[in-house]
Amino acid sequence: MQTQALEVLQKVFGYEQFRGRQAEIVAQVAGGGDALVLMPTGGGKSLCFQIPALLRPGCAVVISPLIALMQDQVEGLHQLGIAAAFLNSTLDAHAAREVEQSYMRGELKLLYVAPERLLTPRFLALLEHTPASLFAIDEAHCVSQWGHDFRPEYIGLSLLHERFPSVPRIALTATADAATRREIVTRLALENAAQFVSSFDRPNIRYRIIEKDNARKQLLAFIEREHHGDAGIVYCLSRKRVEETAAFLSANGITALPYHAGIAAEIKAGNQTRFLREDGIVMVATIAFGMGIDKPDVRFVAHIDLPKSLEGYYQETGRAGRDGLPSNAWLAYGLNDVMQLKEMIESGGSPDAQKQVERDKLNAMLGLAETVACRRQVILGYFGENAVPCGNCDNCLVPPTTWDATDAARKALSCVFRTGQRFGAGHVIDVLLGKTTEKVKQHFHHTVTTFGIGKELPEAGWRSVLRQLLAAGFLQTDTEFGGLQLTPAARPLLKGEMQLRLRGLPEKQRDKTDRDKKRSAASLDIAATDEPLWQRLRSTRRALADEQSVPAYLIFTD
Ligand code: ADP
Ligand code: MG
Ligand code: ZN
Repeated sequence: MQTQALEVLQKVFGYEQFRGRQAEIVAQVAGGGDALVLMPTGGGKSLCFQIPALLRPGCAVVISPLIALMQDQVEGLHQLGIAAAFLNSTLDAHAAREVEQSYMRGELKLLYVAPERLLTPRFLALLEHTPASLFAIDEAHCVSQWGHDFRPEYIGLSLLHERFPSVPRIALTATADAATRREIVTRLALENAAQFVSSFDRPNIRYRIIEKDNARKQLLAFIEREHHGDAGIVYCLSRKRVEETAAFLSANGITALPYHAGIAAEIKAGNQTRFLREDGIVMVATIAFGMGIDKPDVRFVAHIDLPKSLEGYYQETGRAGRDGLPSNAWLAYGLNDVMQLKEMIESGGSPDAQKQVERDKLNAMLGLAETVACRRQVILGYFGENAVPCGNCDNCLVPPTTWDATDAARKALSCVFRTGQRFGAGHVIDVLLGKTTEKVKQHFHHTVTTFGIGKELPEAGWRSVLRQLLAAGFLQTDTEFGGLQLTPAARPLLKGEMQLRLRGLPEKQRDKTDRDKKRSAASLDIAATDEPLWQRLRSTRRALADEQSVPAYLIFTD
């Protein structure tokens, strides 16, 4: 079997040798066993079922979630002279019947079907009549109800095992956090399947996460500076942002095409084809784009909005650099992203248990965005792999500075509390900076003790502080109005029982902080009669329980 497999790899597919664990997986499935394959995007999962399909008598049935994906694969197989076909909604009744008949006549080696088609009585009868040589369930994470690509029809696939227990099954995915893995195993009844977990490391991809200030301008600068004329993908959270960003890039001389679920099918297909065939196209897309796209020379994947989960982020960035050449994963994120995503979870209609999963997934993503450690270490750690610092991510290349943000954090938290825990970040920052906006005037009686206590940081500095406080769980967003609220975790910080270091402010702002510390402390209304606040906070932080020394703006001092 081993030599046969290698022969097929070389003679039919034209590759020299198996990659990673492909040979083991092929042997397992060709020999009639079940397998669960976790391999990063671009790792070469297709061959893991295509070669067994050629080695076993009969025809393999491949379940695939996307029409475009099926068509690409079948076309590729035809070019290699392999008898393959697909059954999906693009075929009319007559064409579909022809495919079914050639399946029954034993003329096919691989038949691709959509899950909803497979589960029809008609198709199941076909399988009773002519058993498949194996079932391959591609993109198996689609069975995960809490994942980003959930397809309800995938749940029904557990029936394959019940109805056809002797047909080997192979499930494949590039999404492999422990929770999703467990869900795939139980939902697809793969408890007895051999698991093949590859390393998820993509050493040629450089991860970089920057603070958002003007995402589009930052993106344009990044592309112009590092990826002039390269193919890339830009992910946005909403259709509107896709349209606007594609238009913005085009207006600035970059060939950018939009892609999202609201675009007419022909135009979408046309844009995808151009992206695959032409050089240097930038696809601006929602996450609707990319699954199964096999374009080897995508040089960068940029996110201008924070993804909802780390596994989603990793799968999307994994579309860069399949050819193994250096590539960039670039993400710009800011306070609004955190606010918006937290709010989406809380105000969304999901049941509580699911909300908790959504929160956990977002928190993992936030952890990656805020880490001062090696990004790759954090990513691989999330997938259960140990790694050493990679030397090829932003944090490894330029270790981020941190600063003692204890005082700033206490001011921010106090201000959130004093303003009634119902305002968004903009108003809280206005109060910290002592800006007399209409809103501030209207609510001044609430804000008086925290008004203007934060002049030592510029607005961007406070945005960074609030963002990190949210990401770290000291703050949360209110379910009803989306305003900022304290969490129980804020208490020890406010009581002076803990110190907090945050990711560095840009150089300019740090200078300003030091310079302005004294000046701003002197101008604080709350401590005008006393020694300067900053000095006092420093000297008495651990003794803050002492009422006498507590500045008026601080809360939780009892
Ligand atoms: P995945 O489904 O894991 O994302 P694919 O099956 O689409 O990945 O394969 C990605 C690319 O790697 C394809 O271009 C494929 O032809 C190539 N590939 C797979 N296995 C090998 C191999 N053993 N040697 C060389 N190229 C390979
Ligand atoms: Mg694939
Ligand atoms: Zn690193």
